[in-house]
Amino acid sequence: MLTNLQINSRRLWDSLMDTAKFGGTDRGGIKRLTLTDEDKQVRDWFKAQCEALGCTVSVDEVGNMFATRPGRNANLPPIAMGSHLDTQPTGGKFDGILGVLAGLEVLRTLHEHEYETNAPIEVVNWTNEEGSRFPPAMLASGVFAGIFPPEYAYAQTDREGTTFLSELERIGYRGSMKSGDHQLSAMFELHIEQGPILEDEKKSIGIVTGVQGMRWYEINITGQDAHTGATPMYLRRNALLGAARIIEAVDAIGQQHQPGVATVGLIENKPNSRNVVPGEVFLTVDLRHPDETALDKMEAELRAALKTILPPLKLTYDEKKIWASAAVNFAPELIACVRSAAAKSGFPMRDMVSGAGHDAAYIARVAPTTMIFVPCEGGLSHNEAESTKPEECAAGAQVLLDAVLAYDQSLAGHT
Ligand SMILES: [Zn+2]
Repeated sequence: MLTNLQINSRRLWDSLMDTAKFGGTDRGGIKRLTLTDEDKQVRDWFKAQCEALGCTVSVDEVGNMFATRPGRNANLPPIAMGSHLDTQPTGGKFDGILGVLAGLEVLRTLHEHEYETNAPIEVVNWTNEEGSRFPPAMLASGVFAGIFPPEYAYAQTDREGTTFLSELERIGYRGSMKSGDHQLSAMFELHIEQGPILEDEKKSIGIVTGVQGMRWYEINITGQDAHTGATPMYLRRNALLGAARIIEAVDAIGQQHQPGVATVGLIENKPNSRNVVPGEVFLTVDLRHPDETALDKMEAELRAALKTILPPLKLTYDEKKIWASAAVNFAPELIACVRSAAAKSGFPMRDMVSGAGHDAAYIARVAPTTMIFVPCEGGLSHNEAESTKPEECAAGAQVLLDAVLAYDQSLAGHT
């Protein structure tokens, strides 16, 4: 049975603009770092709005908030919708909060139509997604998914040396519930794309099938400092020349493995002086691909490039893989719900893989999970100018509602 419930796009937009006052900046952005007073204000607001709908708001030991609306069958684990309320220091009005407020709009729509779901419906605010104040990113969804123990989160400090735990307690959001001890039937995260593809192709909904795998490397190339005037070309050991050829090779690896991407983003040249042949270069390589096997190939090609390019230039090198995050495939049954929800409203859509990390990537390890993307102007995010149109936010929230209800109906026969 299909429903014809419609979200209220004006109400969703008003909530997005209302909450922009919590940490609002002069340039129209938001500065709402995790566990600050501004974070407390938006949390208190969110809690009050959910309680006004008769929902119960519970908080776990790392501050994750769960606003629950009961369903017909209390034995079913809740269907969650969620994202994060924290921002970067110069963040925008949509990254994270859109997914939480669209979840709230779903609760409001269900409430005003007195619609009874099979499973409980839950809106989640995951603490410290950004990791900007307390690294690493996605810290508390990581605790929920069992990747980090709560003590690890508690011990993280900001640049002033203040701990996550003391700030969590100070703002009153250290809950009693053990993180991760309640099961979820599913988790849907609506988020802005943070890239330019949907806008470029004039699509309003991204069906996110997974999160690409990511690997980071650090490379030191060693040659020899020498006088630029007195050292003939054939006797040079120019580390920067080696780095230049590696940068070309890394770009070629990305070009050959699309939709994979490969980037040298940071380079330090020593001694960085106009009349010294550079004797040492440090650079970073970032490889990403939705498929782990392809990522293995990209890694092998990177290592082969180092081996073939540098020694003939009389350069030595040292390569370290410093971080890796495996590719995530989202749950096919949830992806199908999102696809049919977008089709129902006639929204132009395309399948895509997330290029950025999200809470959903961790939650996917413990519950069926997927994401829905909406466009953002110019693909801009982590920026005060971040912008998504009211009708684009509304489309995302409508797809969220219909996908959640479709999934809920699939649980009807379960006990
Ligand atoms: Zn985000």
